[in-house]
Amino acid sequence: MNRQRVPWIGARALSVLMMALVVMVAISGGASSALAWGWGHKWITQWAVERLPDWQQDYFGPDELAKLSDEYRAIQDTYSGSKSAELKPYVDTPGVGARLHDVHAIGPSVVSIKWLVQQVIDRMAAGEPDEAMKYLGVLCHWHEDPGSPTAHASPISESMWRWLLPPANDQVQSQSYIYGYKNVGLDVYEMHTPDEAYTPRLLGSTLDEAAARMYQDQRLLAHFAASRILRLLVAVNDNDQATRDALMTELALYNGRHVANIIYTVGCLASGNIDAAEDQQNQSQDLAAWLPNNYVLERGALYSPPYHGVPFLVNQSYTPKRAVVPLAFIGEERVYDTGFGVGANGVIQFTIAPGRVFDRFEAMVGLHASAGKDARVSFVVEKDGQEIARVGPMSVGDGGRAIEAVLAGDDKIDLTLRCENATGSPLSQVVGVWASPRLHRASTDENQTKQSD
Ligand SMILES: [Zn+2]
Repeated sequence: MNRQRVPWIGARALSVLMMALVVMVAISGGASSALAWGWGHKWITQWAVERLPDWQQDYFGPDELAKLSDEYRAIQDTYSGSKSAELKPYVDTPGVGARLHDVHAIGPSVVSIKWLVQQVIDRMAAGEPDEAMKYLGVLCHWHEDPGSPTAHASPISESMWRWLLPPANDQVQSQSYIYGYKNVGLDVYEMHTPDEAYTPRLLGSTLDEAAARMYQDQRLLAHFAASRILRLLVAVNDNDQATRDALMTELALYNGRHVANIIYTVGCLASGNIDAAEDQQNQSQDLAAWLPNNYVLERGALYSPPYHGVPFLVNQSYTPKRAVVPLAFIGEERVYDTGFGVGANGVIQFTIAPGRVFDRFEAMVGLHASAGKDARVSFVVEKDGQEIARVGPMSVGDGGRAIEAVLAGDDKIDLTLRCENATGSPLSQVVGVWASPRLHRASTDENQTKQSD
């Protein structure tokens, strides 16, 4: 069922096509498409489709799904090159327009995601699965480009990469590090994959909820892809084909799981076939599983010494002497699996959209068991810049306490978790913990209607 290796002879024919497209893009005056995965788009979509449950294979139709991963996998790339009027209806979303290759701002992105999913739902309901696959293809491609180790994911520019890692020889010098899937010879990679089983995950039972998680997962996808770029470029400079193939395979598999979740969720929403137990698992969302907005620390921020240069740790804490330890409070046996370790004055920021999906935040807060005896901090939750909950000041002897906040919102919510140092509390002693931070799903009418289908 799954291809162990993709022969690159087939990929070569495709690469000629893609090359033609690059030329077209160049001629047409600089569309933003950076040609991410090349033939990998087909591999990823196919891998995802093969992991759909049987009922969804029947629901969408095997022929339609085959077209999804073949003909309809790069509609926005073709549109970028051709500006073809007949493709415009599929890519010109009311949110981010036709720029469906990158992670964009949360507000317009969520509008576009919802619009694309709605088109699939409507076409399936109208008995037009082939039309539905075109919109689904656009949605999938948009969730594949940022998973590639290219400009779609890179937080820094081509010239910065060349500064940090000068090309080792003329061959590499003549190629691009992050532009185009042919950039550094990435068209000739091979996937070395076990026939990995994967069960797609339901991302939401309503359009709002599904869009909220799709967007957060797309950010995580781009973050993951970016984390492999340096190693990949080092492997290219060292002419280390094995490492290159292994990294590309890892990236493609991560992307395959993400796209499987997306197609599966769209299938559940379109068919109205939503499993009650799966839906129940989405009742609350682990906030530590999502990527905060401020994972890059601004220079000069004054935090506790162990958190100098690192704004927070996920699912771990530093001690004042910078040992890495599990999240725990004094006086409790319990070790917390999820949450954040932060320093004095450390902030963790999220933007969540649509803002009506989750209506409550809760966590356990306190100083880590290793904090100094003079450390005193308060834990503050802010929504859209306004304080909505506060616990403290607490000292290390207080252990952990619950904090809870109501998050009523509409389009989007800016959520800030702040560990505020008290007057006289020495920075060097402060190591704070947000344990088990969770968002709770609002019980809207829409949620209830969809769940009972
Ligand atoms: Zn693209």
